[in-house]
Amino acid sequence: MITIATILLLITILFLYLKNQNNNKVEYVYINEKTKKYHLEECPYAKNLKGISLKDAVKNGYTPCKICNHNQL
Ligand SMILES: [Zn+2]
Repeated sequence: MITIATILLLITILFLYLKNQNNNKVEYVYINEKTKKYHLEECPYAKNLKGISLKDAVKNGYTPCKICNHNQL
């Protein structure tokens, strides 16, 4: 027999699962060590640059590129 408590538990698990999925989405950016800017993958300036996580880029003092990143983050 399925009780309301079971249903609530399932909903909670589903909720946590979805939340976790969002958190696991790693945002990768491409850093230019000379200009201290980071670029999105589709940016023409991102070619041949080192990819790191957005979190690390910000932590290391990188700022968003004005061409590819002006509306985001
Ligand atoms: Zn860019």
